[in-house]
Amino acid sequence: MTDFKALAQTYGTPLYVYDFDAMSAQFESLKEAFRGRKSILAYAVKANSNLSVVKHFAQLGAGADCVSIGEVRRALMAGVPKYRILFSGVGKRDDEIREAIEADILYINVESEAELSRVEAIAAELGTTARISIRVNPNIDPKTHPYISTGLHDNKFGVEIDAAKRMYIQAKNAPSLDPVGIHFHIGSQLTELEPIYEAAVIVADLLRSLQAIDIELKFFDIGGGLGVRYNDETTIAPYDYAQAVLSALRGLDVTVVCEPGRFLTANAGYFLTKVLYEKRNGEKRFVVVDGAMNDLIRPSLYKAYHRIEALGKTGEENAADVVGPVCESGDFLAKNYPLPPMEHNDLLLVHSAGAYGFGMGSNYNTRGRSAEVAIEGGKERLIRRRETFDDVIACERDYL
Ligand SMILES: *Cc1c(COP(=O)(O)O)cnc(C)c1O
Repeated sequence: MTDFKALAQTYGTPLYVYDFDAMSAQFESLKEAFRGRKSILAYAVKANSNLSVVKHFAQLGAGADCVSIGEVRRALMAGVPKYRILFSGVGKRDDEIREAIEADILYINVESEAELSRVEAIAAELGTTARISIRVNPNIDPKTHPYISTGLHDNKFGVEIDAAKRMYIQAKNAPSLDPVGIHFHIGSQLTELEPIYEAAVIVADLLRSLQAIDIELKFFDIGGGLGVRYNDETTIAPYDYAQAVLSALRGLDVTVVCEPGRFLTANAGYFLTKVLYEKRNGEKRFVVVDGAMNDLIRPSLYKAYHRIEALGKTGEENAADVVGPVCESGDFLAKNYPLPPMEHNDLLLVHSAGAYGFGMGSNYNTRGRSAEVAIEGGKERLIRRRETFDDVIACERDYL
């Protein structure tokens, strides 16, 4: 059992703590589900992009799904082999496309006809061939939060089936393009299997119709999105997930590429924050803590639920809003959360904070970002030091 009090004393608060063994266990469970099939598990770096986290997955044999050239650089730096790196995202700049082609990564996931033409032109300029995959928008409702739904025509992601077909034909005829894969990613925090299966069937049908016109694709990229339990959600078992996808692929000889992010890191992460004060405004009870929306924005952004544990505290629990010091009414970690009476310097442990936590952080209110600590084999180590005031103003001070 991790001694969070000792960690708070050593590293200060607010603090992110990651259980690397729990991350390994999640990775192995997904790998096991695809055992005996050609597959690549490409960790979605944006879920938690700390270099040591990416390196941890690289050492387990993971690839990396990146959504900016910065993430591609992180993946390479962390030791992910270039032949397991993908570059996705709806708006890639020319310089990002150029660098990705030069880095010779596995493929670029192309998200529009205009982007395909840019990749074609840039690869031609470089006198080389770019491996590409096209992100298909299968128009499936993933039944998740609208902000993390990506597979409907209403969403900005991917292209329609007909456009995808035209693009594959363009790519096949372009000497500077090599179409190698097909991609979809319908959303995040998916807790129902049906939409994934339906999307896989639609995209597998497209793959077959491309085969019929002599376009052979090697990689069937099913995106990420596997949900996790924050509260009482029922989640999809990795085995069922794999079986659903594989059943859509019957008769096809393809490598399945999967891009899990949240599934690998969310429940392996904790956000540790210290109580500053309790206060009341009329009937309303507030617990004011030193962590805030700039550290963990999910509650403010998606009304996300995180389980909160009052470490070492007992006593009658009453509803309180857990709020940070940031000057926004939207700055809260929880609303109406049952907590025992809290005192100055007590610790709250926010669970399930390993994905889209630190990475979505900012310096709003001139707050330095938290430190991050890894726990592995019962041993702890710092993997990112706390930001100082000097760090926060580093890009401005010379212009004063
Ligand atoms: C964000 C993202 C993922 C990972 O999503 P999770 O819900 O964290 O698994 C995978 N693929 C793409 C293209 C993404 O944008």
